[in-house]
Amino acid sequence: MTFQRHRINKRVINDLRKRTTLGIFFYLVVPYCIFFTDNYIERHLEFSLLSLGIFTAICFFRLVHLYISRKTPEKFESLNHQIFFSSVVLTALVWGLIAAYSLVQDGEQKAQLLMTICTAGFCSGGVISFMPERRLSILYNLLMLLPASAIILTKGDNFTLGAAMLLFSAYLVLISMRGNDEYWTALENEYLLEKKSEELRQASRIDVLTSLYNRRHFDELFHLTMGLCARRGTPITLIICDIDHFKNINDTFGHLAGDEYLKFISRYLQEVFRRETDVVGRYGGDEFVILVPDEDIHATRNLTERFRSKVASAVLTYNEAKIKATVSLGMVCCIPQAGQNPEVLIDKADTALYKAKDAGRNTIIVHGECQER
Ligand code: GH3
Ligand code: MG
Repeated sequence: MTFQRHRINKRVINDLRKRTTLGIFFYLVVPYCIFFTDNYIERHLEFSLLSLGIFTAICFFRLVHLYISRKTPEKFESLNHQIFFSSVVLTALVWGLIAAYSLVQDGEQKAQLLMTICTAGFCSGGVISFMPERRLSILYNLLMLLPASAIILTKGDNFTLGAAMLLFSAYLVLISMRGNDEYWTALENEYLLEKKSEELRQASRIDVLTSLYNRRHFDELFHLTMGLCARRGTPITLIICDIDHFKNINDTFGHLAGDEYLKFISRYLQEVFRRETDVVGRYGGDEFVILVPDEDIHATRNLTERFRSKVASAVLTYNEAKIKATVSLGMVCCIPQAGQNPEVLIDKADTALYKAKDAGRNTIIVHGECQER
């Protein structure tokens, strides 16, 4: 699979921890139920106490480790996972040995029945809990069941039980592998879906031709940036830029050349207005919009002038044709009021742009109100 698994390892480790925590509480209770049933503990005191002691200790260790691992920094993630893995393997091995020993004792049918049912239950639970990690889920089932089936088959007086346990363990291994595949496929699909949604979200914000923000997203950012500037009491400048006689480029060199010229201008815009907080968008056709927050009109005017003169001297070579054009720009600057309508600024920048066109193009006009500041 081409999917980068390491990206989702953290999620899987968390998933494993969550799935196994509940099981540990069962491990703490079930052995006591078995050993106290029918006074088994009295007949096999040493074995019972040893089993209960070791198994309870492992369970407490696992609970404490689960608690600690949630608090430890991320750099210990791998170590924590190894401890988790080893402690699960140890749980299965110890239980497997306890089950094996108790299942071949003579005259203990009640405890053995309980032991068989509980072991089968643990194994089935293990298939679900350890599904995210194939190795663990296989190992767990084998360690739980193989010692008992081996010793029962070796002893030879209950061949059916030994064989049934073997079959059951093979079945659980197969189910674990299948479940593991399904778990990972579901996880990968979830991440792919998330990635696709993010791509779609991005695409809905971007102008396909120029890769600048489209008008819809620019409007959203305009509202946001104005709100921020209003709260901070800092200025915001809006610039509208229109390519002069752009129709001529289309008519003379073709529509594709026109497209290339739009991309060419977009790159210049991004080069000049490159602060993280600057917002550059395509407003439609050959019209671009630029937002410069937290800067006074003079500094922004200088930046805009740099852009205008760069474009005026730039030449785009397209299929051996040399394409040259200029831009006209209208600017407006204000310290916005809370809740102020951004459209008012658009109107003012537009008015300034038309004045720039009237003034002979290749010109920047700052809206009258801002000049007075
Ligand atoms: P002015 O100096 O007054 O702005 O003259 P102009 O020729 O630029 O006039 P106007 O802004 O009205 O023309 C814009 C042209 O841009 C008209 C339209 O065919 C062309 N146009 C709009 N969108 C695209 C596009 O995506 N690609 C290309 N190649 N041309 C486009
Ligand atoms: Mg134009």
